[in-house]
Amino acid sequence: MKKRFLAVFLSVVLVVAVFSATVYSAETVFPVIKGVSVWRENAQKATIRFFSDSAGTVYYKVTDTPQAPEEFVSDDTTNMPASADSLCVLNLTELDGLDSGVKYVHIALVDENGICSDLLNIEMPYDLYFFDDFEGFPQDSYPSSFTRGYGGAGDAQQKITVDERENNPNNKCFRLLGAYNWASEQKVDLPDGLSGFMVMQADVKAIGGTWPLSMEFASNTGTWGTRIARMSLKSGFFGYGIGNSEMFFVDTFNFNQWYTIKIVLDLTNREIDYYADNVKINEQPIDADASALKFFSILAGNTQSGCEGYFDNVMVYNYPFREFDITSGSTEGGSISPKGTVKAIQGSSKTFTVTPDSGYHISDVFVEGESVGPVSTYTFENINGNHVIHASFAPHSFSSFAYNGNGTHTVSCACGQNYSENCVSGDWIIDTYATFCESGSKHKECIHCGGIPETENIPAVSIISAEYIRSIGIYGPNRAYLMCRKNNVSVQQLISQFDTDKLEVYRNGAKLENDDFVGTGCELRLINEQETVDRLTVVIPGDIDGDGLIKLYDVRKVLRTAVGLETLTEASTLAGDIIDDGEIKIADARKLLRVCVGLESLESNVIPR
Ligand SMILES: [Zn+2]
Ligand SMILES: [Zn+2]
Repeated sequence: MKKRFLAVFLSVVLVVAVFSATVYSAETVFPVIKGVSVWRENAQKATIRFFSDSAGTVYYKVTDTPQAPEEFVSDDTTNMPASADSLCVLNLTELDGLDSGVKYVHIALVDENGICSDLLNIEMPYDLYFFDDFEGFPQDSYPSSFTRGYGGAGDAQQKITVDERENNPNNKCFRLLGAYNWASEQKVDLPDGLSGFMVMQADVKAIGGTWPLSMEFASNTGTWGTRIARMSLKSGFFGYGIGNSEMFFVDTFNFNQWYTIKIVLDLTNREIDYYADNVKINEQPIDADASALKFFSILAGNTQSGCEGYFDNVMVYNYPFREFDITSGSTEGGSISPKGTVKAIQGSSKTFTVTPDSGYHISDVFVEGESVGPVSTYTFENINGNHVIHASFAPHSFSSFAYNGNGTHTVSCACGQNYSENCVSGDWIIDTYATFCESGSKHKECIHCGGIPETENIPAVSIISAEYIRSIGIYGPNRAYLMCRKNNVSVQQLISQFDTDKLEVYRNGAKLENDDFVGTGCELRLINEQETVDRLTVVIPGDIDGDGLIKLYDVRKVLRTAVGLETLTEASTLAGDIIDDGEIKIADARKLLRVCVGLESLESNVIPR
């Protein structure tokens, strides 16, 4: 609860009286009037007490402004007699101009020698019911602005005492002393039918005991009365409480230090605010059983003997306010609090909290029909009129995905609501295909966030059988050859030597069938998705012309090459160099002839690389 209370203050201002015609000398002794004690029975009736040190005539006037009238002490100013060293009691009525609202009472005393006192000005905020600075009462007397409730350590102990304050060594205050099991309680009755904000404030100083002092608003019900709200200095803490229930304690206080404590009773909304040195220490609802406000009192506790407290500038007042309606509502999918029509005091602020249901977010908040954005709280400050606030909600739309880098992604609604979950991998995507010599790589992407939760190497194509294949080798500039072990090898037999079936064999650009023989110069292609990703040129030993077989024609070509009559392709040269010494010689032709006619087997001549 945040309330911005209207600044309420009361001050006593002494103004030099400049309106008397009397001529003063250095020896002139001015009469003194001092002390302000106000008790207001109702708007048109108040009792003001003050002390006069001289006999004479009291003049007084009530105004609506702080300024005293220029012609103050004159025949038409209301007056009454005063005795020397006496407590003057001035009863103001509507005949004196006392009425609701802020009033100023101006008092002066003219002594028997015609000397005028300083002016005593009393400012009365709206419906000031009680004020006492205790300066008007003699030391050790009982201040007649109060009535005795309980006597504490004895009636004579509840008395005016002098306690220096703020450079005033003669400052007077009201001292209360309790006894074991018997509190000192000094009361002031309040008018019936009070409403609005009632404020009780006092300067207090704890002197001793575990419960040095309290002040409270109370009703008359029950044997002991019923507390409506109480503030205490007790057990080392500022305490507060409602009804006759236990008290709550907040900040600590020091003995022998003056504090200002205040209770603000909001009778309309039945709420109580508690203040210490103008800092709100807490708030409470007024107890449901608390009946009408009847009196207030100041107390010194009864927990043990020696509970002692000083009170000064005790005041109780009421102040006016206007109330406005603030109406709130919302769409489905959430709530706004408070909801419906709530009352707000003029000048106060009111905060609304907008809370979406699970699965919803605030889509917008409208104040007086104007969007203020999707805010979760909104505060009307310094309220000075009726207001309408409306919140709208919408289901979350989780449509934004962000990869977290660890196989999870975060799914977000535009409102910022989000959660994490595991990525959902799609199919493998090939980054680079494996070839006969190099491994490739592949990954999976999350179908939502596009993150890459899985990456794998694709191993290079490997040879799983050495029956037909001797090696893969590089000869010449960047040409890779598949060196076979035998002739008479079919396409199917060749492919079966590898761990992949994505292989095709071509001769002069034409694809061979499975049963076709693979010959020297054929191309073994590694195919992925119709793309040739690698190729090897096949070398069948002894097969020079590329039909996959060893025939006399091949022998003849080797012989012609050996004697320099012919030049073979690189593949055919590799095929013809069956002795494998790097060049084709007569010896290669001889061996190939012997293989061709069955005198030797090819395998026995092949030296594994
Ligand atoms: Zn959302
Ligand atoms: Zn993902």
